[in-house]
Amino acid sequence: MELDVSQGFLHPATAFPFEASLTLEAQDVGGETVTFDPVTLEGTYFVADDTVRLEGRLTTTARAVCAVCLAPAEKAVGIDFDETFRKDANETEDECFRYEGKSVPLDHMALTLAMLNLPMRFVCGRPDCHAAAELKAWNEEGKVWKEEPESEGTYRPFEGLDVLMKKEPPEQ
Ligand SMILES: [Zn+2]
Repeated sequence: MELDVSQGFLHPATAFPFEASLTLEAQDVGGETVTFDPVTLEGTYFVADDTVRLEGRLTTTARAVCAVCLAPAEKAVGIDFDETFRKDANETEDECFRYEGKSVPLDHMALTLAMLNLPMRFVCGRPDCHAAAELKAWNEEGKVWKEEPESEGTYRPFEGLDVLMKKEPPEQ
């Protein structure tokens, strides 16, 4: 997705509103796949001395599996950005993005922003998630893990722990 900024070259130092949407490819984050809903960028741009400045807000939803129960989990992403594009930028060294001609490429910027703002881990937050269920059971003495729903899939990080726990009850 390229944003046409030719108006900015005709009228330097003048802010022009823009709105763009694009899609990001699924990303591998430490072995987990993270996908993104269509990304919306909204804001203004202006051109000064061959530098294009974009200010605005990026919104999307990041999706992955819950770190606890592997159910689908999502996280709304909203990022205020203020980014600079230069014609001769070295993106790996400079703190800005590169563009050519009279348009700026938005995909790399959007992906960079989205990846920098991912949560440390995704948690689904459903009431029957293992995290919530186990914490609840933990607090209700004597009911530890007995109410684990059978339909909740195959991932049981605490399987076997209950045996240990019965020998040494946790201190509250
Ligand atoms: Zn969960």
